[in-house]
Amino acid sequence: MKILCIGRNYREHARELNNPVPEKPVFFMKGSNSLLRNGKPFYYPDFSNDIQYEAELVLRIGRLGKNIAPEFAYSYIDAISLGIDFTARDLQTECKNKGLPWEVAKAFDHAAVLGELKPCGDLSRNIRFQLLLNGTQVQDGHSHDMLFPIPAIIAYLSRFITLRTGDLIYTGTPAGVGPISIGDTLEGFLEGEKVFNLNIK
Ligand code: ZN
Repeated sequence: MKILCIGRNYREHARELNNPVPEKPVFFMKGSNSLLRNGKPFYYPDFSNDIQYEAELVLRIGRLGKNIAPEFAYSYIDAISLGIDFTARDLQTECKNKGLPWEVAKAFDHAAVLGELKPCGDLSRNIRFQLLLNGTQVQDGHSHDMLFPIPAIIAYLSRFITLRTGDLIYTGTPAGVGPISIGDTLEGFLEGEKVFNLNIK
């Protein structure tokens, strides 16, 4: 099982990090080592002083696919949830400045929080998701604001990488990303329903 993540998929988020709006999807990967589920806490790692949350709509792949046409993309997804793409922003900034890959900042253990999976329903609807930090809303996303919508993401990724049952796709974060501290609580809501409660230790 692998985790594919889309970067810079919301205009306001690209702007807040002073990144250009991309002409084609930007993606990177995390391994199964990154997955954090079932209400387990996140332990702040010693290699970073600036771990930041990025709340993202997550798609789970339900069947094998390669070179998937956009019009068939929805049929390859069997569940959705909300997740967090934890990012060591200090290490990522160093990588970006040196033109190096991002894995050290993105693919570390437990850097991919996954909430409770939900049935897809009609994936063309405008799916709302929210992240609360210590009870205050910090991110409020809508899937219709994605620069590259779900069918375009599936079509693009599957040109390069075979999608397999159980793979997860993190679809990028809207504006409002920020740092976490030990003692914080993050709560994720998908269409008004709580799908995770995460303690930072
Ligand atoms: Zn992200």
